[in-house]
Amino acid sequence: MPVYEYYCPTCKDKFEVRRSISEMDDPAVCAGGHADTWRTLSMFTALVSRGEFGEYEGGSDFGSFEGGGCACGGSCSCGG
Ligand SMILES: [Zn+2]
Repeated sequence: MPVYEYYCPTCKDKFEVRRSISEMDDPAVCAGGHADTWRTLSMFTALVSRGEFGEYEGGSDFGSFEGGGCACGGSCSCGG
């Protein structure tokens, strides 16, 4: 049975609960008896979410190549 991590805002602390997948989103009672808790993001989910803000700006580097030449074939004043 998987272990899920939950956060208790009252205790300001995280705790782990071993439960079935079908119960993973149910509130868990912390060691202090508080039921007003929620499940924290797993490490896997955090990694996936980070991908949405990928470090690749994409395309910007390729864009610079467009100005690298002229397709005029030498008939214009581009010098190329
Ligand atoms: Zn608590």
